[in-house]
Amino acid sequence: MASAMASPRPARKKLVKRAPPDRSQRLRRSVQLLFLALNVWIGVQFYLFVRYYETGGRTVFASRPAGVEGWLPIAALMNLKVLLLTGVLPVLHAAGLFLLFAFVAISWIFRKAFCGWLCPVGTLSEYLWRLGRRMVGRNFRLPRAADIPMRGLKYILMGLFLFAVVAMPVAAIRDFLDGPFGIIDDVKMLNFFRFLGLAGIGVVALLVIASLFVQNFWCRYLCPYGALLGGISSASLLAIRRDAGLCIDCARCARACPAALPVDRLVTIRSAECTGCMECVAACPAEGALFLSAPRRKRVPAWAVAAGVAVLFLGVCGYARWTGHWNTNLPSRTYFELIPHANEFQHP
Ligand code: SF4
Ligand code: SF4
Repeated sequence: MASAMASPRPARKKLVKRAPPDRSQRLRRSVQLLFLALNVWIGVQFYLFVRYYETGGRTVFASRPAGVEGWLPIAALMNLKVLLLTGVLPVLHAAGLFLLFAFVAISWIFRKAFCGWLCPVGTLSEYLWRLGRRMVGRNFRLPRAADIPMRGLKYILMGLFLFAVVAMPVAAIRDFLDGPFGIIDDVKMLNFFRFLGLAGIGVVALLVIASLFVQNFWCRYLCPYGALLGGISSASLLAIRRDAGLCIDCARCARACPAALPVDRLVTIRSAECTGCMECVAACPAEGALFLSAPRRKRVPAWAVAAGVAVLFLGVCGYARWTGHWNTNLPSRTYFELIPHANEFQHP
């Protein structure tokens, strides 16, 4: 009897007003590409710097780009601990610390916008899953039973790194950062990627293949920096907000969300996984139904996020430069002595 009675279909909500064309994603991709280009430029300049000292000054000279320290977040965390416990700013590699300040501020104010708007690895991940979608017509999501524990991996990695830094006494941190390994930890990182063994190449190839089919595989499951910034973004002033009165329950936002968040079922999205990318807002057809919201439900347009991210990034880096803390000034002699022997220094 019960099976014969069709359950009443929920009335389809009417679209009150169609949203105008959204340009937020064009803007976001431009910011991402700009930052990617900046990192490529830093990489090339740093490579030339290393080669100059490796070859005893026989190749073209390039000065050390301090921005390379953005790739050394653990050294930045160590410097942060020294700063907090002694009140003294580091003389070596302070740029990494200022970059950490900038990225933390960006993540606190604009959700995890470092990941969605700046990070070059995030940008490459995004291009990979878009390519994968073109190749096979769709991306895949891991089953929930695998997805949830795997998402925990990045927090475990972050916890291990934080524990290592917290457990290290200030004197030991100073010995490490001011010693040969610490002075050229950036060169060690470059060498790690330059002389990647077979196992390393295999791991990178696996990550690339996984990123083709699963959206943001590295960011979602493995990136400890993203985990740290995600934790900070949980206290963000901004959130994605859905106005249930204007929403027509089409679920386009949830389908568009690269972080696989159930945007269509929540009123406010404050998840640590949300990168503030605004893909969901761009996909929403109902004007006013979904928006990035500041306190008191004030709408925040994409251009304000781009401008805010740029002001914080350039402002913090500019301040470090202006106060003389940006560049690490070591005599050439030190680099001539250390860089050709970089592979001989082992992690203490
Ligand atoms: S909820 Fe929206 S802003 Fe947050 S990650 Fe998903 S698509 Fe991006
Ligand atoms: S995209 Fe999401 S918020 Fe917009 S109308 Fe559809 S379900 Fe509602």
